[in-house]
Amino acid sequence: MSSSTPWPPSRRRPDVDRMAGVGVSPGVGAGPAHLLVGEIPEPPADARHDGDAAAETARAVVALERVAADLEARGVQAGGTAEDVLEAQAMMARDPELVEGVSALVGGGMAASRAVYQAFQKYRDMLASAGGYLAERVADLDDIRDRVVALLTGVPMPGVPVDAAVPYVLIARDLAPADTAVLSRDLVAAFVTEEGGPTSHTAILARAMGVPAVVACAGATAITSGTPVLVDGTSGIVRLMPSDEEVAEARDAAAARQAALSAVTGPGRTSDGHPVPLLANVGGPGDLPAALANGAEGVGLYRTEFLFLDRAAPPSAAEQVEAYRAVLAAFPGGRVVVRTLDAGADKPLAFLPPPGHEPNPALGERGLRMFRVHQEVMAAQLGALAVAAAGTEAKLQVMAPMVATRAEAEWFVRACRSAGLPEAGIMIEIPAAALRAADLAGAVDFFSIGTNDLAQYTFAADRQLSGLTELQDPWQPALLDLIHGAAVAASAQGKGCGVCGEAAADPVLACVLVGLGVTSLSMASPALPAVRAALARHSLDQCVLAAVDARGAPSAEIARAAARAHLPGLADLAL
Ligand code: PEP
Ligand code: MG
Repeated sequence: MSSSTPWPPSRRRPDVDRMAGVGVSPGVGAGPAHLLVGEIPEPPADARHDGDAAAETARAVVALERVAADLEARGVQAGGTAEDVLEAQAMMARDPELVEGVSALVGGGMAASRAVYQAFQKYRDMLASAGGYLAERVADLDDIRDRVVALLTGVPMPGVPVDAAVPYVLIARDLAPADTAVLSRDLVAAFVTEEGGPTSHTAILARAMGVPAVVACAGATAITSGTPVLVDGTSGIVRLMPSDEEVAEARDAAAARQAALSAVTGPGRTSDGHPVPLLANVGGPGDLPAALANGAEGVGLYRTEFLFLDRAAPPSAAEQVEAYRAVLAAFPGGRVVVRTLDAGADKPLAFLPPPGHEPNPALGERGLRMFRVHQEVMAAQLGALAVAAAGTEAKLQVMAPMVATRAEAEWFVRACRSAGLPEAGIMIEIPAAALRAADLAGAVDFFSIGTNDLAQYTFAADRQLSGLTELQDPWQPALLDLIHGAAVAASAQGKGCGVCGEAAADPVLACVLVGLGVTSLSMASPALPAVRAALARHSLDQCVLAAVDARGAPSAEIARAAARAHLPGLADLAL
């Protein structure tokens, strides 16, 4: 550790009207805060009403109906699978037997909130004891119950509002994929979370949506709903009660910067013409408009598990073919890199459960390992990809997540070949794979470096934890060394080596990655203009010098500064 890097690093604490976290999705957003409520407290077992049982029952019935109608409306807005799930939830809330149960308990003097809680308990126990698919629906029941209890007790409703008059700043401890199924760019001005790091789900989602976001913001959940908030997703500063001038100024500056970045168009290349294809990370066909609008040359990471997050059963072949073909068809002549299901740890899939209890899921059966247990799921996915690719003009490349050894890489490549998929690659996101890159390159057609997990495993720092952001910093020279090694090994055997982790979305680091020998960059689409503009301002030699000095630095902070010294064009772009 260098003398200029203090240890222990300080954890930032909020001032009264200003908080600081880690900016993970650039831009500014302002609006009233909406605090995402976690758990709704259980109503006390002895809660009684004031004697008018009929009125109390009516309150419960109205609350149940309001919740059902709200769930239905959310379903219609979300469409697709989410609509089916939310409709089923609405039906549960309207179940006549449930209402009868509530009415009987209220008739005995129990307050409506407690009666609802108890009536749900009966169904909950039934589902839980049924096991399998039905047991997985317990969380849905709890969600309905909590919504009804919140209405009856006057506490804020759990979940995200879907019908706000003005876009709001969503504040949460952290966001789960299910929380965000119905969010849209028009509804959310910014995200602020107390937990999470630069590569957590919240950060990835925010970047994909182009919503400014700050994570690891200590004290954020103390902000009360309705408080006006200004969020700067670049600096990580969160201002409470900003003046109108402050908001206008911040918005103007962000718009001017965006305009300067968007002025550079065309395929990715350095100022001296070295081509660096700029590709999009997508989670499904819904991300295509943003990818095309931002000039993506193809897809560098299709996170197929995002399609099936809320599924209890594997998706059908026809459904998979449709979802894959939609993305392939969007890039005729372009490259589309599809990753097979990366289930487990931060991306659990109900239909691909780990074989036993895992105290440490990030180190358990996940990614490609899961397919050893569920081989039929991998075969079905590869088959669907082969069908989807037939008749489209995109160049399909398929890759496996979480590969550790050459034997795993060979197994995957064999499976792809026998499914009729000619191009098979692997993600480099486990240090063992990076260290043995020369060996692995001989077994596959290409590499794609997942810097999110590679940082997590290299530094033994859980990517979901807000307290470890310094260790998850992709500028860490140890991570740069591993990236360099993988890129050099791939190039020596004439193979491509892209980066599809969040590191590629940092325009300064993107120049360094190119200097390290990375051949393509894939990122959340809104990041493409800044990366394109940064590359266009610098020659390959400048990128190489930046990379050499960054790797030679003793810390992430010094690496950043050392690289910037070789990249003078960044200042013109206000990057
Ligand atoms: C990564 O680990 O860097 C990556 C791109 O995959 P994911 O973030 O989906 O784990
Ligand atoms: Mg990963």
